Amino acid sequence: MEQKKRILTGDRTTGRLHLGHYVGSLQSRVALQNDYDTFILLADIQALTTHFEKPELIHDSIYQVAIDNLSVGLDPEKVTILQQSQITAIAELTEFYSLLVSVNTLRHNPTIKTEAKAYGYDDLSFGFLGYPVSQSADITFCKADLVPVGEDQLPHMELTRKIVRRFNELYGASLPEPQAMLSKCSRLVGLDGNAKMGKSLGNALYLSDDAATVEAKVKRALTDTTRISVKDPGHPDVCVVSKYHEIFNPTEHANICEMCKSASIGCVACKKQLAAVLNGLLDPFREKRAYYESHLGEVRDIIMAGSAKANLIGNETMREVKEAMHIAL
Ligand code: ATP
Ligand code: MG
Repeated sequence: MEQKKRILTGDRTTGRLHLGHYVGSLQSRVALQNDYDTFILLADIQALTTHFEKPELIHDSIYQVAIDNLSVGLDPEKVTILQQSQITAIAELTEFYSLLVSVNTLRHNPTIKTEAKAYGYDDLSFGFLGYPVSQSADITFCKADLVPVGEDQLPHMELTRKIVRRFNELYGASLPEPQAMLSKCSRLVGLDGNAKMGKSLGNALYLSDDAATVEAKVKRALTDTTRISVKDPGHPDVCVVSKYHEIFNPTEHANICEMCKSASIGCVACKKQLAAVLNGLLDPFREKRAYYESHLGEVRDIIMAGSAKANLIGNETMREVKEAMHIAL
């Protein structure tokens, strides 16, 4: 039997996951879990690079992000869920890879730049600047072939491929070069019109939000600011709510746009429709979440077992890596 290709993907444990994660990554994880050997990383070390002063939040988010993944339909019998800080090979590989990357390359990384600006950093910590190197270790410790990610991760994927090529060239190793896999919606805009819905940006609809919260947040979403009265024709091309209809309510989208342009639907009704669609999507997830929320011991067991399995694989990779580097005695 041909061996399944391996996927590694994951999320920072900086908070609960939102609809951006769902359309950008979780949805394809669920679709691919039968055909690929899937590894889901709870990226707590990467979370610490920006949230090191919030250890309680990180602890809670390790559970919440695991539950988010399980609630959308990832099957713990099929996929491996692992905690980054438990995998020793990731720490070791990060050290070795850091020798192959220049500080200037990291400084010019567009995602690092955007995030540093968003966090208001002008003097970057060593750990924050280096997190893309650690991410290369995440992907390669288990020799992942494919990495489903959102658009913001593409510079990091390019860096990973560069490191792998350089490492193989230098030491005659044969680590596989991973491929990024973008979903149809690789960047969901925030409810506030920000270019990206982000869990640290305060503009997100969480998978764990209840129906009333979804309704309230959609009510406040940014629409066409030039449309003052219901009688004014709207401009769906500049409206966040319209973008969400396009993604989550594709069959109705064209019709809603026409009605908006001809002022035959108002923003209030349009938002109500969207909230109903989103709640329809989230309802089955809420049911699964309720189960795991009341079985946290089971969630812990899933993470511990996944991390133990990942460590066996990582230790094997480190044996090969150290032999290639001539430091194995
Ligand atoms: P943080 O603000 O803490 O970095 P985040 O919302 O960016 O959180 P991450 O854990 O960094 O979430 O990203 C996990 C995955 O989800 C990545 O593959 C990322 O590209 C994807 N992703 C995050 N936000 C979006 C979004 N708005 N649209 C599409 N994909 C997204
Ligand atoms: Mg992020």
